[in-house]
Order: sequence, then structure tokens, then C-alpha cells
Amino acid sequence: MGTSDRDRQFHPFGLAVCSTETEEDFEFIFRTLKSNTKNLNPKVLIADCAEAITNGFTNAFGSGFARVHCWFHVMDKLRKKLDVTVDAKTKAELLEDIRVMQVSSTECEFKSASALFLKKWSPNENTKAFLAYFTDEYLKKRSGWYEGIAPGFPSTNNGLESLNNKIKNEGTFRLRLPLGEFFTVIIKLIKDWSLDRHPDSPNYVSFVTAPTIHTLLVSEAYEFAKSRGKTVRTKIINSNEVEYFIPSTLQKQLTERDIKSFHKNRVKLDTYKQWKSRLDVVKLDRANWKNSTCTCATFQKEYICSHVIGIAALQQLFQFPDSAKTDLIGKRRKAGRPRKVKQALLVA
Ligand SMILES: [Zn+2]
Repeated sequence: MGTSDRDRQFHPFGLAVCSTETEEDFEFIFRTLKSNTKNLNPKVLIADCAEAITNGFTNAFGSGFARVHCWFHVMDKLRKKLDVTVDAKTKAELLEDIRVMQVSSTECEFKSASALFLKKWSPNENTKAFLAYFTDEYLKKRSGWYEGIAPGFPSTNNGLESLNNKIKNEGTFRLRLPLGEFFTVIIKLIKDWSLDRHPDSPNYVSFVTAPTIHTLLVSEAYEFAKSRGKTVRTKIINSNEVEYFIPSTLQKQLTERDIKSFHKNRVKLDTYKQWKSRLDVVKLDRANWKNSTCTCATFQKEYICSHVIGIAALQQLFQFPDSAKTDLIGKRRKAGRPRKVKQALLVA
């Protein structure tokens, strides 16, 4: 059990040894966490699809939380079902559509994409069994697998799973240890996790509250601002909010229609997919540009993207370091003096 920071680094709270994994077991685990932690009020639960976890968590913390159903587990279940219900080509097409739905940035977008998905595929007799399963299991009962369900939180519990695997694979645990010995080893491990979170520790693992902006991403943002900054269009929502419409790399210019129809509901899944690939939209937070959002897939997964940095820079909220102008991997600066960056942004 643990939490994830803004760099998607997993930080364990502790470890529970449990043989039955029932609702009561999980309730006991969560209540123990609650009674030993001051002011703990979790708003998001990320786990595989087990109802026992959801119910145990609700019993301990109440129902005011977003339940994220690990996308990795959902995908695994969907693949297995598709293998026995449809042919390989249809499977690939269905999965491609479901992946597009997964990066929905809001509940409204996900619901609309889900409806379009069913509308597209329901006339196809071969997909009937799969669609019935998908609708029941992953749209009605467990729909928390799209990115927008909990913005700024992971959509998978891979962080926890990889820690579990690490524990299991470490020499000591390959063999089944007697309980007494097991506890000696595990208590040492938990102590180490705890000490590693102390700033004085040589292996200090900090809890990051804003995504780390890596050099390569800054270089990509620089490239975007320089080469495509001019093509960005803006739309004023109200006195505090402005949306920046960015054409995709394949798209040279956005049309008035692209911007006007952004908030409109789509009629077909394929039009929705086309729209997703035509543009990305940044909502800039002027007070703290790092709190800005973008509709692109990278932002949905990593809480930061070159668009947000690039727009912040074009709006003078962020200054590119000189290194960003030369660091871009795979790109060499032309000989001679580097050209100055043109400050340009069209206002619609
Ligand atoms: Zn983006």
C-alpha cells in the first residue's frame, strides 16, 4: 500500500500480509492505515478491479473518492475476452478505439466517447458478445480506467506492482520463509523505505509535488514554441481562463471550425478520433503555469508536456534556458549564429 507523487514515483506506506483478500481484510488494512495516520483523507483509490478493495476502502474512508480501475488490468481482461470472441483484425481495431477513449481528459468526454464507440460497433454482429461484456463490466460496473477520472494521478497501479515484484524477486523471498524469519526481513525492508524518505539519507527519495521538467522536454517545448508557436490560436473563456489551440505536427493550420466545434459533441467515433489527432488544447493557469492542463496523451499520463511549457514560455511565464536551444537530441543546430526566437502568438 502506498501513494504516488507527481513524477509517478511510488512511495510505500506499509505492507500487509494477507492470505484471503476479502472485503473484511481490506477494511482492516485501511482502518489500520487510517487510525495510524493523522488527517488522512484519501480522494483517489487506485487498484486492480477487485470489488473487495473498493468495499473495504469505502467501509474505512466513506464513499467520497474516485475509484481508478488500473488500466493495465482492464486491458489485460479485454484482450483475453477479445481473443475468444472476435478475429485478430477486429480485435486490433476495437483496442485502438478503446485506447483513444482511455485518454479522455474529462468524465463528459469519456461518456460521449463510450456512446460513440457503442454506436460504431453495435451494428457489427461479430462484436455482440464482446460489447455486452465490455458494457457490463467496464462501462457500467467499473468505468474508472480513463485518464480524466483522477487528473494528476496514475491510471495504473504499476508502481505498486513493480515494488511487489521487487520484494518477491529479492533473494530472500524466492524461498518461502518461515513466518518469524519473514517478519525479520520485512521489518528491515520497511525501515529502509522509511529511512530513504529522510532528507539526510544518502539514498534520499523525495516526494515530488510538481512534475520534474526534464531537459529533453524543455528542448521539445522550445522546438514547438519556435516552429509552431505562430500556429497556436486562442479562445478567451472568461476573464481568468484562456484556451490555447495547438495544431498537431501533421496539421499545419487550424480552421475556425476546429476551434468552434471543440466543445461540441461528436456524432461519430471516427470524427472524434480525427479531432483528437488534429489538435491539443492547453488551459493556461497564469498564476501558476505548472498547474496548467493539456488534452494531449503525454500530459494525461505525465502531468506535464511540451505544449504547456511552450505556451508558458510564449506567454513570458517561463524562460527557456540556453541549453534548451542546443540540446535537442537528434537535431543539430545549423552552422552560424543561431536565429533569435520570434515571439509570436495569434489571438483569435
Ligand atoms: Zn500537451
